[in-house]
Amino acid sequence: MKEPVFITPRKILSRAICMQRLAHAYLLAGGNEPLRAQSLKELSMLLLCDSPTDTAVKGQESFLRPCSRCTSCIKVKGGIHPDLIEISPLGAFIKIEQIRRLQEQVKFSPLEGKRRVVVINQVERMHPSAANALLKLLEEPPTHTHLLLSSGSISILLPTIVSRCQVLRLSTASFSEEYVSEISSKTGRGPSEFLRFLVEYLSIQDEEKLSLAFEIRDRIIKFLISENKSLSFIETGSFLWNSPESVQLALEVARTLTRDLLLISGKTLKTTNKKGNKQDLVMHQDIVPLLGQLAERTNYDTLVGYEKRISSARKMAERNVKPEMIADFILAFWLKKSNCMLGT
Ligand SMILES: [Zn+2]
Repeated sequence: MKEPVFITPRKILSRAICMQRLAHAYLLAGGNEPLRAQSLKELSMLLLCDSPTDTAVKGQESFLRPCSRCTSCIKVKGGIHPDLIEISPLGAFIKIEQIRRLQEQVKFSPLEGKRRVVVINQVERMHPSAANALLKLLEEPPTHTHLLLSSGSISILLPTIVSRCQVLRLSTASFSEEYVSEISSKTGRGPSEFLRFLVEYLSIQDEEKLSLAFEIRDRIIKFLISENKSLSFIETGSFLWNSPESVQLALEVARTLTRDLLLISGKTLKTTNKKGNKQDLVMHQDIVPLLGQLAERTNYDTLVGYEKRISSARKMAERNVKPEMIADFILAFWLKKSNCMLGT
């Protein structure tokens, strides 16, 4: 089979500049944090550079490179370019206030050059309200402004955001598709987006740990479906108390399940992907019927509330709070909510 040709994000942007067809929003995905940071800096420099250089090789397509010497390049390198706005999570989230401030900033023309660049790091950590505000910005992009969103994994982002961006993939040679399918046949779990998420985003390569992640998912689903929440609470909780590792995985499982439930319940998603099939965007595709049942029994606000609870639990984990306390914290939410679930 012929190897697909990998075109770097810089080359894609270079082509767009030359053809005067720059998109308003790009999403840089894949790779690791340092690689993405390096790439974002290079792309910002290229977009803002006063005189990009042409790296023509005879007989080949030429690509632009930032010159590294002009005032703009130097200011980008120093992190002081007034037309480069950078947003990162404040604490657990990118907050609504940060996006509101951005909305104000982009109303005006760029200060020094012909373009403005907005870098948003770790888009997966957007608070739902901030994500909604960002969607508005993506729907009606301000002139002269180009957004560079960045995330380790596309699969955990709201599809409405992804569908409004041109995706630029960083090469992650170490995690090939072949590796994911090899792992999936070893663990007996289909090559779902969830498996890809575990391997690529959480960098889990250990088969035992991958199986544990799936077992935790099965147990959490069983708990959510259960008619007798109090009994199931003890069963599920005591399984998670075993180790901080189990609780860490449970947090990721809970986060991705909540994302899928929000997706299926549909209120957050006014649009679907290009094929018009919302189900394709679900990460836990192998259990869609079960998720459908759960989505019917709960409501949007409850799910948003649960997303917040998971973020708080992640902070607890960072502070080394005992795993059993964290496990209780993420499960107890549903004990209280069980009245509004289970078809009552
Ligand atoms: Zn330059």
